[in-house]
Amino acid sequence: MTGGAGFIGSHLCDALHHSGFAVVCVDNFLTGSRTNIKHLLDAEHFELIEQDVNDKLAVDHEVDLVFHLASPASPADYLRHPIPTLTVGSIGTLSALELAKDRGARFVLASTSEVYGDPHQHPQTEAYWGNVNPVGPRSVYDEAKRFSEAATAAYRREYATDTAIVRIFNTFGPRMRTDDGRAVPAFITRALAGKPLQVAGDGHQSRSLCYVDDTVAGLLAVAGSSHPGPVNLGTQDERTVLDIAHCILSLTGSAAGIEFVALPEDDPVRRRPDTTLARQAFGWEPQTAVEDGLAATVTWFARQLAAGAAR
Ligand code: NAD
Repeated sequence: MTGGAGFIGSHLCDALHHSGFAVVCVDNFLTGSRTNIKHLLDAEHFELIEQDVNDKLAVDHEVDLVFHLASPASPADYLRHPIPTLTVGSIGTLSALELAKDRGARFVLASTSEVYGDPHQHPQTEAYWGNVNPVGPRSVYDEAKRFSEAATAAYRREYATDTAIVRIFNTFGPRMRTDDGRAVPAFITRALAGKPLQVAGDGHQSRSLCYVDDTVAGLLAVAGSSHPGPVNLGTQDERTVLDIAHCILSLTGSAAGIEFVALPEDDPVRRRPDTTLARQAFGWEPQTAVEDGLAATVTWFARQLAAGAAR
């Protein structure tokens, strides 16, 4: 798996390893961390290869499945690393596809709802081609992912590589970084510190937040099938950012309130997947209510902060 030391990747490593698979995690720790996988480092059937996925991948073992998750994913990260985001989406994806092709392995691309840009169709089905600004600041991520989808589709056509494209919508949960800039960790961190939550714009823009365990279950379902995708993974439970902020204030018991700040450029106004395909093809549906997922995430962040303070 590429990007296995990241937020989603580390949960996917856990799930695969727990199910008895031998897992090789390739990561250069650009945005991930060794801490996310430290409990696996000495385990049998787990190997960490610290390298840039853009370089040729040399794996000694048999390879049945290549999950390609390597890429900065939060806006703060890809705006901080614009060129590495473009290269990992392009060169890195070709490198991971080459590994799958050479080994006759199934290849699963972690793509994103960002390929839909600021969508004109709502909710977004897989057939929608998107509305992306090709030169805006977010284009380094959106266009890199669109390239990675095109490359994946081309390997399937050209070399009959067994590929799948999964379009992940906003996912949240334990192991997000406090400083990754996404709304959930930013809100929780500020709430736990007793600071007002900073909501962009008027907070009426919507997001559909899927708990990480559900996203991982969806990735495994797609990997275990022969479906080429693209397949949307996300929740139908669309909430305004303001709503999410209020929920976190209530879960943390914070009275610090909300402070409105400027909206970032090209911030999508609405996001909700149409997940009919995932439901019909794999029987997949998110099982975790947003409030329960947020409660588990708050607990995890509180523990991390307490452990950090005790150090
Ligand atoms: P993350 O930043 O936590 O994880 C990405 C991992 O990739 C990190 O461990 C990072 O060090 C690694 N990486 C980056 N460039 C690399 C390179 N050149 N070589 C080797 N490793 C490299 O992000 P995440 O939230 O876990 O996202 C994982 C994947 O899922 C990404 O591809 C992202 O685009 C996709 N995705 C995530 C979400 C979400 O809500 N989290 C939504 C849509 C799509």
